[in-house]
Formats: sequence, structure tokens, C-alpha cells
Amino acid sequence: MSTTIANTLSEKTKGFSIEESLAFLANEYKGKVVFSTSFGQEDQVIKALISTNELPITIFTLDTGRLFQETYDVFHKTLKKYKKEIKVYFPEATAVEKLLEAKGPNSFYDSVENRKECCFIRKVAPLTKALKGNAIWITGLRAEQSENRHNLDLFEYDAHFDIIKFNPLLKWTLKEVEDYLEKNNVPQNALHKQGFVSIGCAPCTRAIAEGEDIRAGRWWWESSHKECGLHQK
Ligand code: SF4
Repeated sequence: MSTTIANTLSEKTKGFSIEESLAFLANEYKGKVVFSTSFGQEDQVIKALISTNELPITIFTLDTGRLFQETYDVFHKTLKKYKKEIKVYFPEATAVEKLLEAKGPNSFYDSVENRKECCFIRKVAPLTKALKGNAIWITGLRAEQSENRHNLDLFEYDAHFDIIKFNPLLKWTLKEVEDYLEKNNVPQNALHKQGFVSIGCAPCTRAIAEGEDIRAGRWWWESSHKECGLHQK
């Protein structure tokens, strides 16, 4: 995998709809195209597109063990509605046991290093396992989600995971995402109606006020570092 391949895919799919791009990738990289979902609004759009078009793309989620009940609810509803398997990756039990024994269950509030340690065990390590051996990683990233994401491309080479990322909703606005979900009756996380926009683990996510940055509710006690290591941008 490389930046050259990302650029070539960008050229080859020029003018394609999202569904056409997904179908093209599924065919070109048979059995090696994966989509990671955390059941957020963008992910639910992509999930609906993959499922309703019956595209042979593996869908997986990372269950950190610290998710909101509302996230499990939308996970359950999504399974029932689309009847398509969602693979689940859990953190390694021994690593979680050791972390809690050494630092307690809420060590992430104590320092950025501790927070990153928890994110590594619960998210990055399972993600590494999920992406291993695959060629294309479909994400729900949008440019307006954060400053870091403004410069993303539709196809990006992720050197850390040595994989091509495809970000089909890159240019979509939040309004477009919400309209699609409403129009297509796609299950949504109930927390979105309570001011939660970007939803991660329960102890590390809060609702945001009107006008606040979309990712202000993630690790709100930190002044920066609004990423968890899954996405470098
Ligand atoms: Fe741990 Fe919070 Fe990161 Fe979840 S978001 S893995 S609870 S530090």
C-alpha cells in the first residue's frame, strides 16, 4: 500500500457515487475491504449504504468495554434492521486487568499519558488486529469534524496501519448526514438528541453546547489531543 495507490484509486473513482466507489473497491480488493463503525451518525449512513446494496464488505466495531448503553442500543437495533454481521473486537482481557490493578478504573483523567495508555489498550490494539491483512479501511470521517480533518483526501494512505483509507463522507455536512438518516429511517444513537455529536466511551464524552467545536465533547478535560490514535488526522 502507498500514497501512489491512494492517488490512483482517487483517479479511477472520479465521478462515481459513493455506492459505486464502494462496489468498485469491494470487487477490486475482494475480501480485504473493511468498514469500522462506532455507530455514530456518519457510520450509520455508510452502514446503511453497505447493507442496502448488499456489498461484500466486512463491518466491524471496537467494543472498548466503556461504551454508553445508548451505543449498545443502536448497535442492537442496527443488527436487527439490516441483518448483516458486525464483527466485534474487544481489548485484550489481561491488558485491561493489569491496567485497572495498577492504576484503577479511571486513570485516564489523571494525565494525557494515562489516557493514551487506556485508548491504546481498548482501541488502538484491537483496531490493529482488525485491520491486519486488509487493503482498504472505510471510515466515516468528515472534513468539518475538526481542523485536523480539513486537509484529508477521499483516499489517504495511512502509514501507521499500512492501509488505504477511504473517507466517502468527507465533504458531507452534518445536515446532509442528518437528512439521509431521517429520510432512510436509519437507527440512531439516542444521545444525538441530547447534544452529543461525536460519541466515544461514556466516561470520556460529554454533550456540547451550540457553537462549540464538534469534538469539544471528547476528552473535554484536556486542552488539546482530541484524537485517540485510531486516526492520525
Ligand atoms: Fe479509555 Fe476513555 Fe480512551 Fe475509552 S476514550 S479507551 S475510556 S481513555
